[in-house]
Amino acid sequence: MTAAQVSDARAADVLAIAAHRDDVEQTCGGTLLRMAARGLRTAILDLTQGEAGTRGSADDRAREAEEAARILGVGRRQALDMADGAITNTLENRLAIARVVRQLRPRVVILPYGQARHPDHAIVASLGYEACFIAGLSKIDAGGEPYRPFKIVYASLYADVRPSFIVDITPFIEQRHLALMAYRSQYANQPTGSGLFVPEEEIRERTFAEARHYGLLAGVRYGEPFVQKEVGLVDDLTLLPVQSI
Ligand SMILES: [Zn+2]
Repeated sequence: MTAAQVSDARAADVLAIAAHRDDVEQTCGGTLLRMAARGLRTAILDLTQGEAGTRGSADDRAREAEEAARILGVGRRQALDMADGAITNTLENRLAIARVVRQLRPRVVILPYGQARHPDHAIVASLGYEACFIAGLSKIDAGGEPYRPFKIVYASLYADVRPSFIVDITPFIEQRHLALMAYRSQYANQPTGSGLFVPEEEIRERTFAEARHYGLLAGVRYGEPFVQKEVGLVDDLTLLPVQSI
């Protein structure tokens, strides 16, 4: 295959995999917007349909996820049907994700960071990694051609961990907020779950404050944090980003 043929076979450059519809909007929506603005093709794979949520039905969330994907400029979004609130790292689930990875052939996959309050988020870090690994094995039953992404990064917004790098989302913060608020069933003020959920008017303040915090770490206004497991490789010390002093 020539380089051009390889790139044509790629249906997405960046694939974000998350447990729940609206996870991506919270942890890496600004990054997806920035990648789309750079001309890259982005995609989202939600692993559950949201049937266990306190608010809204799975159908509500499907409609809202579609709207949010449009706002994020995401070309493809699909949901699998893993057990909401009880995702497990089984062979069946690894194969289901590997099937999508082989179809989309993303160069980069974004996963949630493995240390998380919600057990689904924590498990998806290892489940997603292992699925990307087996997608490259020729003898597994996942259809298509073997394929392994070049890079996996972990969205660490809600983890108490020092990020490896920040993506500057300053120009995209308002658009990211619109995408999150597309989930009216979750975030609009309503009696159901009112003691559990943050009031609508506070969501903007909280999410912007988090983005401001991470932006400050890298000297920009708003940012989203990521962890990469690999050590970085530098070609030219004079081109390193982020001022030291
Ligand atoms: Zn979630």
